[in-house]
Amino acid sequence: MIIIRLLIYQNHLICLPEVFLDNINCVLPMLEFSEDSKNELKNCIADEKSNCIECELEEKLICVVNKKFANRFLIGNTIYRVLALTIFVFSGLLIGHWWMLISYAIVLPLTFLVIEPRLLCSHCPFYEKEGKCLKCWALRGMPKLWKYRPGPATRAEKTVMLIFGTFIDVFPLVGSIWGIIVFGLDTGNNIAVGISLVVTTILFLVVATYFGKVLLGNACKKCANFSCSMNKVPKEIVKKFLETNPKMKDAWVKAGWKEE
Ligand code: SF4
Ligand code: SF4
Repeated sequence: MIIIRLLIYQNHLICLPEVFLDNINCVLPMLEFSEDSKNELKNCIADEKSNCIECELEEKLICVVNKKFANRFLIGNTIYRVLALTIFVFSGLLIGHWWMLISYAIVLPLTFLVIEPRLLCSHCPFYEKEGKCLKCWALRGMPKLWKYRPGPATRAEKTVMLIFGTFIDVFPLVGSIWGIIVFGLDTGNNIAVGISLVVTTILFLVVATYFGKVLLGNACKKCANFSCSMNKVPKEIVKKFLETNPKMKDAWVKAGWKEE
């Protein structure tokens, strides 16, 4: 009778006859994945059968969603955007035109719903998870309109993403400075709106500092979307992750990534 044993190799369950187990060191290197099986493989973040408990990368990457951290990120991001819109309302009242508020109110949802998921998230291992919505720690719940791309983001994708990212993150300060200058030139007029704009700007800067340093500063060092311009994961961790995920590694190598 042949006894079958279950093994975990590169985070996947493999059945082997007992007879192989005495020579296991000879057997494992032979278990290379064929092109077809690589294409069927999900990356380990998306694969529910992954053996994360024994993985040495568990503490080094945000690859399993921590609900507490994800909720803090969602609250921080929501407050940031609400304050940004409030700045444009107050500065609009002071300056007398509304193109900044209107353009921000259009570009903001467009970025989070369409642009960022396409340019950035579609290259992220979280994007391969089952379901029609994103199940990661940052843009949780966004619809998945695009197909998953295991390779890294291109230079053009990163450049366009930087333009949109800078607009939604930094443009509120333009509205704020402009409105405060107009208020400063005529403090007697619209005093309540001017003071409200100054207070909102201070709150915005506090939230921006917290959001940038505490949340993004830490998360970018562990984010599994390695080709994002802001990603700071050490090269050796990226290499180990790609070695665990042959389909991703193939796509990265084809895109020019080199093991050093
Ligand atoms: S790298 Fe993959 S296998 Fe390792 S802990 Fe993260 S999701 Fe699990
Ligand atoms: S972790 Fe970031 S890059 Fe990855 S899917 Fe979520 S929002 Fe997109």
